[in-house]
Amino acid sequence: MGRMTIKVGVFGAAGRMGRTVCEAVRADPDLELVAVVDPYHQGLDLRSVTGVDCDLHMALDGGALADAGATVAVDFTVAAGARENLHWCADNSVHAVVGTTGLDEDDLDELAEVFTKSNCVVAPNFAVGAVLMMRFAELAAPWFPTAEIIELHHDEKVDAPSGTAMLTAARMAGASGDWGEDPTAEHVLDGARGGTGPGGIPIHSVRLRGLIAHQEVLLGTTGQSLTIRHDSFDRSSYMPGVLIAIKAVGERPGLTVGLDAILGL
Ligand code: NAD
Repeated sequence: MGRMTIKVGVFGAAGRMGRTVCEAVRADPDLELVAVVDPYHQGLDLRSVTGVDCDLHMALDGGALADAGATVAVDFTVAAGARENLHWCADNSVHAVVGTTGLDEDDLDELAEVFTKSNCVVAPNFAVGAVLMMRFAELAAPWFPTAEIIELHHDEKVDAPSGTAMLTAARMAGASGDWGEDPTAEHVLDGARGGTGPGGIPIHSVRLRGLIAHQEVLLGTTGQSLTIRHDSFDRSSYMPGVLIAIKAVGERPGLTVGLDAILGL
């Protein structure tokens, strides 16, 4: 009897995250990469596009996952694409692990409704260190009346602020309702105080060539401040979290938001 493996399909396989996921799945003896989908690279050989040693070809849509018998789909694409792909997964009883950012509360409500026959894990950040950063920020929030978030990403990121920054602010706002007023009376430059996140917490987005994904949570109170910083230096930082989610999604009915729920944080 051969070892039981989980058959995995990857949406957005030609992308930066998608190809890293393909490599990680290929390297894990408990998983089998059976289908790759990327409509903008359809027909291309995965090996030539990504360097991943595998003879799959990029397919147009989820049909390829059904043909290959994938039980789990991973989606790192764009929000509009993910909405379509996830509906396909729900309709076809395929579990989904979603890293795509830019999905809002309405999207999550809808996913919770449609995933009845299979399960879905959505995490704006699969790096364990980032998940801990959010937890630490949430713990610190009640002790600091002022806080700001600075998120820094590579110069090709299309959405701002990052999903991680939004979720960090939401969790801090959930942990404390006691935030100081912004004293700024004169805005010399529009946007100088950043965007206003959940709880009124300002969020500042930096886009810089050479960066990957970084975030600082600054918390201040009388006579002291606390800075919590996380850096992803490489896309491989997300892979342990993605692999944990692929293996756990089958056991988590409905929608799970955030890797912390799976890690028990
Ligand atoms: P990318 O532009 O390099 O890759 C996206 C890929 O998706 C492209 O190859 C594109 O052709 C493909 N695509 C577009 N629409 C598609 C569809 N409908 N079906 C299948 N494929 C489709 O982007 P990236 O840097 O790989 O990031 C992808 C997403 O992952 C972004 O939303 C980013 O914010 C997010 N991200 C999440 C995490 C996390 O930990 N959750 C970490 C890094 C990036």
